[in-house]
Amino acid sequence: MQRILQKRYYIRKCLSFLKSLLAKKRLFNFIVCFVSFVLKKDKLTSYPSMIMIEPTNRCNFHCSLCALGNGLDKRPAAELPFEAYKKTIDELSDYLSWVMLYIQGEPLLNKDIFKMVAYAKMRKIYVSFSTNGYLLDKENISQILNSGLDHLTVSLDAARADTFKEYKKVDAFQKVVGNVKALVAQRKKDRRLNPCICLQMIAIKENEGEIEDFLDLASEVGVDEVFIKPARIDFFPQKFTASLPSDKKYIRPSYLESREAPRRCLKPWMSFVINSAGVAAPCCEDVLLAYPIGNIFSDTIGAIWNGKRMQDFRYNLSHKIENNPFCKDCSYNVFFRSL
Ligand code: SF4
Repeated sequence: MQRILQKRYYIRKCLSFLKSLLAKKRLFNFIVCFVSFVLKKDKLTSYPSMIMIEPTNRCNFHCSLCALGNGLDKRPAAELPFEAYKKTIDELSDYLSWVMLYIQGEPLLNKDIFKMVAYAKMRKIYVSFSTNGYLLDKENISQILNSGLDHLTVSLDAARADTFKEYKKVDAFQKVVGNVKALVAQRKKDRRLNPCICLQMIAIKENEGEIEDFLDLASEVGVDEVFIKPARIDFFPQKFTASLPSDKKYIRPSYLESREAPRRCLKPWMSFVINSAGVAAPCCEDVLLAYPIGNIFSDTIGAIWNGKRMQDFRYNLSHKIENNPFCKDCSYNVFFRSL
């Protein structure tokens, strides 16, 4: 995994997040979440510090290693209504430091995406989302800059037009690169610092030879951050191991060796996710919704966060991780293995 960030943007990113964390009861809540994790509490007195919300599960691309793009994720198309989003933010805004408006799908296909960003920013919450960049036209660029968005990831995934087309099944490499250049230029013209713009590549065998060119391209385009992200393949019925790159640096550690089951993970003490149909899950790694914990249309956030399903999930993470369906292939828990 490789994340490269210009120093001034690293400082700015940290400061923006700190500003959000220090508002209202958020820092205290964050500390209580962490202490509850250390004490292995299943029922929490704190609330989520971070939430991932899926504005829509529709997408205009068909990326091979995306469950939605390749048809493995068979959910009917849905858009999260703004009112349901607003209710969630209202209920949690005293505690939330970060809202990520992305799970699967293309967020710019939800007509209310900028209303969602602005509503969270009005409450001084750090807001980010990820896009494939196709819809970054003049109007959307202006909306992004005016919404107050803190961080935008553009998933380009290639340094060459033919690799891009092969992976995404859309011939739009030059268009997306041009769109990102236009966003960078407009932000400069408007003398704004936000959003921090990250160009992302999911590393696979087919694009591995282009990583150096991708870094050069990112610098030519003028983005603030580059993220070379390891691909996730464990949810496919036949593992797509042939798609993994040869450089182990770009492969999830859990795919490389049969390692001891990871012991602890902080995420379900800090966050949960809500998809575009209102279904909540304990973690974004639950791509195919193997473990739903509630639905925001029928349950309160408190009932989801401290319901039996979520408490059982936390208990398993502390004591019997093999009982959690998608944790054993996860690579995000390594930091806490010694706790
Ligand atoms: S171990 Fe991985 S899959 Fe399980 S909750 Fe943590 S981040 Fe999610």
